[in-house]
Amino acid sequence: MKKITMRAAICLCLAMLLIAGTLLYVFRFFRDGGDWVSYPANSHMYSSGLPSSGAILDQKGVVLASFREGRWQYHDSSAIRLATLHAVGDKEGKIGVGALNAFADKLTGYNIISGARPVFGANRQLYLTLDSEVCRVAYQAMNGLKGTIGVYNYQSGEILCMVSAPSYDPTDPPLIEDGDERYEGAYINRLLSATFIPGSTFKLVTAAAALETLPDIETRSFNCSGSTVIGNMTITCPQAHGELDFGQALTVSCNCVFGALAVELGADTMTSYVDSTGLTDSYSINGLHTAASSFDFNTGEVGELAWSGIGQGKDLVNPCSLMVYMGAIANGGRAATPQLISSLTTKDGLKLSIYLPHRTSRLLQADTAETLTRLMRDNVINNYGEWNFPGLTVAAKSGTAQSDTSEANNAWFAGFLADEAHPLAFVVLLEGGGSGSGAAASAANQVLQAAISAGY
Ligand SMILES: [Zn+2]
Repeated sequence: MKKITMRAAICLCLAMLLIAGTLLYVFRFFRDGGDWVSYPANSHMYSSGLPSSGAILDQKGVVLASFREGRWQYHDSSAIRLATLHAVGDKEGKIGVGALNAFADKLTGYNIISGARPVFGANRQLYLTLDSEVCRVAYQAMNGLKGTIGVYNYQSGEILCMVSAPSYDPTDPPLIEDGDERYEGAYINRLLSATFIPGSTFKLVTAAAALETLPDIETRSFNCSGSTVIGNMTITCPQAHGELDFGQALTVSCNCVFGALAVELGADTMTSYVDSTGLTDSYSINGLHTAASSFDFNTGEVGELAWSGIGQGKDLVNPCSLMVYMGAIANGGRAATPQLISSLTTKDGLKLSIYLPHRTSRLLQADTAETLTRLMRDNVINNYGEWNFPGLTVAAKSGTAQSDTSEANNAWFAGFLADEAHPLAFVVLLEGGGSGSGAAASAANQVLQAAISAGY
């Protein structure tokens, strides 16, 4: 009897394991089926590791890459190929977030019901939100420097421009050897997948924390003598800024004021603000996950906390997250989350999917967003110069950050158009680009002018 009970128990255990295994399989089939079928070794749908049908187009229908005559072929213009490499992807699969690799299941038409035999036939047309001409202008505006430029519509979420450099021509990929500086990080999409020291663009986060935490901040007056000692660190400005109010301190980007404010706010408040402003989030852009920014305000050393509050120290910011934060400032505290796929159609133009805008959580209060918009607009009028952005109502903050790879500093310029008719937010990072209000601001102007000319 004992023996039978024992055997029954073993059978029951095996049956439960079988049921659990089946449930796990069914769950993973629905969740991961697209990835399984996209596996490059699947010769039913792939040739040489790529989907053997389909096309990748920009928002206006310009074909960036298509499967013709038994192989993937790119746009005829090398300037467009260089500018859209990281969005379109490479045939070798080294650029993981490129559409050829990341959206392979969409190009093949795989679905849960009919599997690898698409209901509406193969040869899918994947329309990206990018405008290839705006990307081309952006790549050219980077003038051979490494870095990234992103522009997106903060109301719809559409990314118009996503350029990362160094790039290369995917029709003739270079043999990149370790340590070859020309191609350092060439396979990385710097907008989505990298983080950098933000420099003074980060003062917009410290400013938001100050506006929402210190009730008298806008009526205070500060005095900058050009340097101040906080803890065991000396915080310096390029020159003595003298008497300042809060807005003027942001306009001249006073390190002494913002370092002291970060210490007054404290490590916990700064930590909670990098979370609430969305910087430490990883955004999912049609399933592509951005790199999360990282900070360490809790080193226990107030001097380090001061440097972190002005965007140096251990601060590392993802350019895309900073661009979304710019969108949220422009849009009353919440912005659309970025998206890269505009639509997916059959080759006859039948739409197979719709991508609806999603919004971020509230990244800052509405009145803080309004105040920062006014101050960033003042920055352009009083500091960077309206004449540098003819016809545009740019609101922006520049940043200059030490570079790991170059003697010249990294240049940032981030902001938005304070213009309901053109709801565009942008980020420009030029590695070794020097001062943010120089080359990076000029690149921002060129890209924004191209976007407006193209009707965005
Ligand atoms: Zn100062």
